Amino acid sequence: MVNQSKLRTIEMSTSGAVVTGHREFHYRWVWHLKSSPEMLWPLVSNTDRFNRDTHVPKIAQITDEALSNGRRKLQMHRITLGPLKLVPIVWYEEPFEWMQPHRFGVVRNYIKGPVRQMRVQADLNRLPDNSTEAIYQVWITPANLLGYAAIPFQVGLLSARDFKRVFHAYDRLAWENRRPEIQLAPASRLSSGGRERLMRSRVGLRAQGADERLIDQLFDIIEHGDDLTLMRLRPYALADAWGADRRAVLTLCLLATRANLLDLRWELLCPQCRGANEVDGHLEDVNPLVHCKSCNIDYEVNFEYSVELTFRPNDSVRVVEDTLFCMGGPQVTPHIATQGMVAPGESLLVEPELEPGRYRVRTMTLQGAQPIRVEEDGLAEIVIAASGHWHGGEPVLGTRPRITFENTTADAQLFIMERLSWSDQAATAAEVTSLQVFRDLFSNEALRSNIQMSVGGMTVMFTDLRGSTRMYREIGDAPAFGRVMDHFEVIRQAVIAHDGAIVKTLGDAVMAVFRRPVNAVLAAMEAQAALAQPEGAREPLALKVGINTGPAIAVTLNERLDYFGTTVNLAARLTETSEGSDIVVSDVVRHDPEVAHMLDLRDVTCFAQSFAMQIRGFDDAPLRLYRIGLTQLNQRQLSG
Ligand SMILES: [Zn+2]
Repeated sequence: MVNQSKLRTIEMSTSGAVVTGHREFHYRWVWHLKSSPEMLWPLVSNTDRFNRDTHVPKIAQITDEALSNGRRKLQMHRITLGPLKLVPIVWYEEPFEWMQPHRFGVVRNYIKGPVRQMRVQADLNRLPDNSTEAIYQVWITPANLLGYAAIPFQVGLLSARDFKRVFHAYDRLAWENRRPEIQLAPASRLSSGGRERLMRSRVGLRAQGADERLIDQLFDIIEHGDDLTLMRLRPYALADAWGADRRAVLTLCLLATRANLLDLRWELLCPQCRGANEVDGHLEDVNPLVHCKSCNIDYEVNFEYSVELTFRPNDSVRVVEDTLFCMGGPQVTPHIATQGMVAPGESLLVEPELEPGRYRVRTMTLQGAQPIRVEEDGLAEIVIAASGHWHGGEPVLGTRPRITFENTTADAQLFIMERLSWSDQAATAAEVTSLQVFRDLFSNEALRSNIQMSVGGMTVMFTDLRGSTRMYREIGDAPAFGRVMDHFEVIRQAVIAHDGAIVKTLGDAVMAVFRRPVNAVLAAMEAQAALAQPEGAREPLALKVGINTGPAIAVTLNERLDYFGTTVNLAARLTETSEGSDIVVSDVVRHDPEVAHMLDLRDVTCFAQSFAMQIRGFDDAPLRLYRIGLTQLNQRQLSG
């Protein structure tokens, strides 16, 4: 790596040196590991778990001072070597610096305890056969004679053994693609009566349709998982790790919550660091405006990204302790590909490996950010300067670029390069609240009465039964009422089968929501097909359907979670133009890629007819609409 006087790389040995009368200890361990750097990175750079696995004591943040640039004041208690007692150790921690998946490091400056400064750097160097040369280095400057005497024993002997053991254990886990939360967890204990509670609820979970294999896996992690994982169970991440269907695991977690095995939590995530700044047990506790202490910003909460549903075991089954061993490592903010501190007038060279996609570079204090796109054949080299304003434009970088962060401001800047997309492993409030199983199990989960929450893109479907007035007249009130009730059940089944939820019914009408337009169209087709071929000698029913998609707002109406906005209003209007047995959709729904693809595939059975129409309340210009339905041929087959 280049290392000029004004251009440093992320290398702990050249930064933050403190002049001291005591000598500095330097330890350097090198191991050859068979896994590749990118396989090892998520494990090795999870410093929270790494520190626990290498027997570092728990830490706590001291928050009595405002610190710049993501620095933190932390403390832990260590047992002294001589007279056995717990001594407090307090330090200022510089922000971690890293470039995935090759290097990370941190500098700690101590104000209490036997050490003055400690610097750590981990390197994962790729070897020609894609295995890894791991180098772990620690530099320690003692603060006093006790430190001078203790360091060779504590670090040179005890920690050295732990580091070696853990690096090799992580290598095995990465190589065998096994997950660390159970493999390396300290022995755990269920609460008294916990095992009985698990056993008893198994029958109920099975009866509600939960998969036996998934129940086993959930119970296994509740019993044997480590606290770091159980503090925050993310259903989609579990599903991915288990190779299971995400919806099935989410449903199981919701059922387990009803059975008092798990507690459900709404985490309000910061749009910058994506850490949870508030954790609520109920939607009605969710605040619309939240402050992030790490980023020093206020942000508006929305259901689309910033509210994530997580779970943790109920105390009656397993008591999970909130523990912290390290709070600034790369895996706390895995969306950040690289970050480094740059002194005024200096530069920093980083060489991260990047997935294609959209990124931005920002600092903690400057306004705005530099957007960047990463593509396979993008630029190999770029200089990104922070000078109070950003360049504008969106440069295209390659996946293995050399990036120079240049600080031309008068203050130190922490440069942060992060992916823009949010993890798709988050079960967001927008997604969860549009699931029927959630609405059924948690029907009183609603927002506080005066709060509105954006849910981002939502697909809204309205249906109405055609000719129901005539039906009441012809077959009489009681039979007609029965048929209307049956038709609700048909729609409900179709909506559930396609991952949607019924919000409400009004008279003969139904309002349902979906996350994807194609699911709404499929559910509508399925319901219409079933109603067109009723059992026995009963008259077929025709269902008018309107579907629209777009941004919507969640509110609480009549004590239940409802949605409103232009998207919803138009969907309701579209239903009025439906003739029954057809589906009227907006232009956006018709040209949604999945809907377009589905219509292409089904071209024998479907048609999408375009027409323009003036819609009441949407008077500016006639709207382009589409009528989707079965072709004449198939309609004859269905009714004949
Ligand atoms: Zn934040």
